[in-house]
Amino acid sequence: MNDPHSGLFCPSCRVALNEALVCPSCDTHWPAAGGIADFSRGVYYDNFNDSTVLTDEHRAGLALEMDGARRRIVDYYLPRIPKSARRVLDCGCGNGISVDLLNEAGFEAWGNDLSALRKWQWRERQRRDRLVVASALELPFADEYFDVVISSGVIEHIGVEETSYPRYTVRALPNRDELRRTFFRELLRVLEPGGALYVDCPNGRFPIDFWHSDAPGRPRFHPRDEPFLPSFAEIERYVPNERAEALSPYKRLQFHQAARHWYGRLLGTPMSLFFRLMPGWIAASALNPFLVVRIRKSDHKANETE
Ligand SMILES: [Zn+2]
Repeated sequence: MNDPHSGLFCPSCRVALNEALVCPSCDTHWPAAGGIADFSRGVYYDNFNDSTVLTDEHRAGLALEMDGARRRIVDYYLPRIPKSARRVLDCGCGNGISVDLLNEAGFEAWGNDLSALRKWQWRERQRRDRLVVASALELPFADEYFDVVISSGVIEHIGVEETSYPRYTVRALPNRDELRRTFFRELLRVLEPGGALYVDCPNGRFPIDFWHSDAPGRPRFHPRDEPFLPSFAEIERYVPNERAEALSPYKRLQFHQAARHWYGRLLGTPMSLFFRLMPGWIAASALNPFLVVRIRKSDHKANETE
């Protein structure tokens, strides 16, 4: 006899949870508030609660991000999702706009993020039932559940410690590589064989990072061996059994935020042409500021045993 289940799985035991989000194996009753299941165990990536005061700058940043999330999905990822796909995961979905947009486009789309701020923001979303507070390293989904998995701007934050005050600094944790391998293993676990995993992030080989600095959109010059932003070769090493391919970030990378600065305007038009014509070997090289990597999960079960 089967209990009606929620579609979610216990991230510890990997068995189906019932409708009340109780695990039949470990008996954990996972909490849910406002329709949003929470698998954080109270440990979030950030500190935020209802009494946290957001600065004007922070609010402006969140508003800009709405626009960015919409363009990321509508301009870049939606055209890449095959019509035959049924289920899509946006791992590290941030404000959750992507999940509403993908569900509106007819997919069963889910999103996760391990953030108290995001959980608060999600009260505004339509499909709160498809948003879960969960770590990318321990997803509450069944094996091979998704046809497509997208993860934007997540990999670089795994296995590192960042500070924003007084200056932006970042250092690697001793187990960085192990955590990054776990991240890829987990994303590939929930992907069906033959499915596509898209991972994007600023390119570690490119000397300027426009996305992580003291102020939004301000360029940050960094050494090539900084242990933060990965290169294409590094990503390939995390998925030794799968085929990884660098794609042009044309339309993924738009200079709306940087366009408020002189260098953004300088880069805007010529760069857009450069990205449009970019072949794969350049997309994987130090000439490309932003990596988009497509990883096809192989169909051979034999490859999955390690
Ligand atoms: Zn359990």
